[in-house]
Amino acid sequence: MTVQIRKLSTTQPDFQKQLTNVLAFEEKEDESINTVVANVLADVKNNGDKAVLEYTRRFDRLSVSTGAELEIPEAECEAALASLAPERRLALQAAANRVRKYHERQKLSCGSDGFTFTDEDGTSLGQKVTPLDSVGIYVPGGKAAYPSSVLMNAIPANVAGVSEIVMVVPTPDGARNELVLAAAALSGVTRVFTVGGAQAVGALAYGTETIPSVDKIVGPGNAYVAAAKRRVFGTVGIDMIAGPSEILVICDGTTDPDWVAMDLFSQAEHDEMAQSILISPDAAYLDRVDASIRKLLPTMSRREIITKSLSSRGAMIHVQNMEEACEIANRIAPEHLEISAENPQHWANLIRHAGSIFLGRFTSEALGDYCAGPNHVLPTSRTARFSSPLGVYDFQKRSSLICVSEKGAQTLGEIAVELATGEGLEAHARSAGLRLQK
Ligand code: NAD
Repeated sequence: MTVQIRKLSTTQPDFQKQLTNVLAFEEKEDESINTVVANVLADVKNNGDKAVLEYTRRFDRLSVSTGAELEIPEAECEAALASLAPERRLALQAAANRVRKYHERQKLSCGSDGFTFTDEDGTSLGQKVTPLDSVGIYVPGGKAAYPSSVLMNAIPANVAGVSEIVMVVPTPDGARNELVLAAAALSGVTRVFTVGGAQAVGALAYGTETIPSVDKIVGPGNAYVAAAKRRVFGTVGIDMIAGPSEILVICDGTTDPDWVAMDLFSQAEHDEMAQSILISPDAAYLDRVDASIRKLLPTMSRREIITKSLSSRGAMIHVQNMEEACEIANRIAPEHLEISAENPQHWANLIRHAGSIFLGRFTSEALGDYCAGPNHVLPTSRTARFSSPLGVYDFQKRSSLICVSEKGAQTLGEIAVELATGEGLEAHARSAGLRLQK
């Protein structure tokens, strides 16, 4: 199968329609998955550990006889960290340190201390910020292991001050991944259970004899995990339902085309539905990247997935200038945006919608995925128009503070009586009215 990437130009009369087609992505709700997930969740809610043990045996081929055997003791995570090859341990520690430092800055800047102020009547108003009591971190593990997911989901929760961080990770055939456990040891995770899929989400939402219920569940996963998170939302909070991963590269035409081709691959290799788009004002440059793609693709072990992803969802867009490139980027609202150009900050100033913005030729998205510091859990499917990367703020909540002075009760009381009377809510009007001085 040869790779065939769609080529678009903003000068084409039907460009907008073509772009809409490129971006079109209908997440199919699979009824058979929904049915399985609904049954698993109901069973876990009603039968607790017994159901979790049964589904873990059935879907992950892990047979244990008690819930307690599903828990990995903290000492095993510490031992996993200690037993890593030194260069791997140092890399993991370096990544964890950078992610932690970034999120500590984020905590300072997102108003974690709340605020209060006093008005002219002596009434004080404010906002109190409280970390969540407990969160569940879903770490996927069906087909591959994701230690970076542990860092990116658990560290912001830990920095926010969440006291109980419960991690669940499936271990098919009982195979535990050392790097994942080591990452848990570095991230402030308090308990780890070898459970995955809808049964893990159900256990975290409803609680079982062994697995505690939590207040919010975060972390990526397959279609069963996503469907389960959707269903338990309301009983617990959730972070988001992530769609396929996306990268948009804007290049002024002067970056080595091999670098850009590999950046497009780095997204396409995730799965066939992942989306990689390149925009440039230099048509000849787009051809050079196309040539690099054809040259490098045969060297890639995941070339089949990359080929399908680039051919079905990839695109190259020729624009008139960099300003137009930025306008289109705002329309696409990509999860990852690389600005591979001179003076990238200038162009970043024109960007309003993107999950993470990578500035300059040396900033490959891969660095952000693992170790730059900012979170790699990002809004997909154009949701960057209204949402943000996972962060410390996702593990905090806010309460309003109102302390009305005697004088304030007169001023506010008159307003409230008037409005409550207008709404026909007598108790409201009288409650405020009783505090008015005669
Ligand atoms: P997973 O942990 O999400 O799913 C494994 C679980 O699925 C099993 O434990 C099992 O309970 C359940 N399951 C599998 N087949 C089932 C069936 N027939 N019936 C009922 N339940 C079944 O692991 P995975 O499958 O490897 O998927 C991981 C996903 O997470 C991938 O799609 C990957 O792309 C995604 N991911 C996303 C990010 C991100 O940041 N967006 C990061 C890492 C992984």
